[in-house]
Amino acid sequence: MYDVSIIGAGAVGCAIARELSKYDLKVNVIEKYNDVSNGTSKANSGIVHGGYDGKPGTLKARLCVQGNHMFKELDHELRFGFNKCGSFVLGFDEEDHKEIERLYHNGISNGMDNLSIVDREYILKKEPNVNPLVHSALYCSGAGVISPFEYTVALAENAGDNGVEFFLETEVLSIDKQDGFYTLNTSKGKIDTKYVVNSAGLFADEIAKMAGVDKFKIIPRKGEYQLFDKEIGNTVHSVLFQTPRGGSKGILVTPTFHENLMIGPNAQFVDDKEDLKTTKTGLKEVAEMALKSVPGIDGSKLITQFAGLRASMADYDFVIEESIKGFINLVGIDSPGLTSSPAIALEVTELLKGSGLELFEKDDHISYRTPYIRLDKLETEEVNELIQQDEKFGRIICRCESITEGEIIEVLHRSIPVRSIDAIKRRARATSGRCQGGFCTPRIMDIMNRELGMELTEINKHEAGSYILSGRTKTAKGGNA
Ligand SMILES: Cc1cc2nc3c(=O)[nH]c(=O)nc-3n(C[C@H](O)[C@H](O)[C@H](O)COP(=O)(O)OP(=O)(O)OC[C@H]3O[C@@H](n4cnc5c(N)ncnc54)[C@H](O)[C@@H]3O)c2cc1C
Repeated sequence: MYDVSIIGAGAVGCAIARELSKYDLKVNVIEKYNDVSNGTSKANSGIVHGGYDGKPGTLKARLCVQGNHMFKELDHELRFGFNKCGSFVLGFDEEDHKEIERLYHNGISNGMDNLSIVDREYILKKEPNVNPLVHSALYCSGAGVISPFEYTVALAENAGDNGVEFFLETEVLSIDKQDGFYTLNTSKGKIDTKYVVNSAGLFADEIAKMAGVDKFKIIPRKGEYQLFDKEIGNTVHSVLFQTPRGGSKGILVTPTFHENLMIGPNAQFVDDKEDLKTTKTGLKEVAEMALKSVPGIDGSKLITQFAGLRASMADYDFVIEESIKGFINLVGIDSPGLTSSPAIALEVTELLKGSGLELFEKDDHISYRTPYIRLDKLETEEVNELIQQDEKFGRIICRCESITEGEIIEVLHRSIPVRSIDAIKRRARATSGRCQGGFCTPRIMDIMNRELGMELTEINKHEAGSYILSGRTKTAKGGNA
């Protein structure tokens, strides 16, 4: 019998798992995909938002500001990487300026302290590639960028190091309420648990319904992006929003944590919760709007396009509630869910405590996580020393991102199993560059085969079933190659 089962290994579920791992509890995380961060948490803007646009008095406003204030310390403990680069909301006329003033006061009443309204001269000094027609901006020095999957993986690895069990490729199919506990019927068998945390993102309404709570309806809202080569990554140095119109945060132009340039997202309601296709019209909208902020973006440096789905609801706010005894629902956790995730974890822990879960701190809890080795973050002497110790750190596998065999092997042996090429991409960045894995995928497969004992035909590109090789086409005479 588990104390708590968390359904969904996105940023929110993993933040809750990490928080609960501080206590003497038997906790698991159940995830239908073969890796953590494979839902909305893998495809978003990766912004730690400034908390100035949340409607005062809402959970979104409170948890975004609280979450924002937690990221520096979280990064210190988990070492996923947080670039507090600051953000601008750009205004181009008097009407925008009035909205910027409103956002400033909104931010102050939400408890955000590092906000200022700046003029054209200030903006262009910090961001010379911004459209010179810019009028003024709201500047937030407390905003920044993270890699959303490295953040989620870091939370999960630390939770795993502290005893949380992760059941990957395990889908919750139905739920039975028993006398004082729940039985989760999954694709891999039954799991009995005293408390359930439903953190299933886009599917949270369906999970709630399985427990008899039929009052939520999630409407997926697509956001499309374009990602550019690092060669033009320094076009901008901060997150650049436009003055929001009609409820959306608008198209942004931003450096990613790994110094690519990214533009997007638009906002389009769709019917299908798994529709991650990009569209011609959506990408055109993104490109045209981005050029309004930064006219000189070089379209020829585009390396990939992708889409993410917000788990939106008709009502504005996040829902975080114990809908029935021992069953906590988190529904409508759209933006800024990533920023809010550490604060949501505290909120859920309090709800569980209020519901009778006894929380005794562990004596042996490990707060810190050893970061992955990143040669691009080391001095030349440190790189040379590593290569002396292990020549695999001198063998480049991913040419575009200059990722070595040593760095890839390093991510394979952590508490969360790695089963796909994309799982390596999210951790070590191999395959994320210009050629998108065209060159290095076969070499990474060889490493997985050797290090993890996976058959080459067992290795997926992303989800279970997305095999890269189906079998041998021929065998050399007298051998098995
Ligand atoms: C376009 C876009 C841009 C965004 N930008 C930002 C931003 O810059 N900053 C910010 O703070 N927020 C942003 N967000 C919001 C943020 O990405 C989300 O709030 C956050 O990732 C939600 O995390 P989650 O864990 O709730 O959901 P998810 O990451 O979707 O995780 C839910 C998990 O539940 C699993 N699951 C579902 N059903 C089952 C089942 N039956 N059995 C087992 N597992 C199941 C899924 O497979 C999934 O892995 C953005 C969102 C989008 C779409």
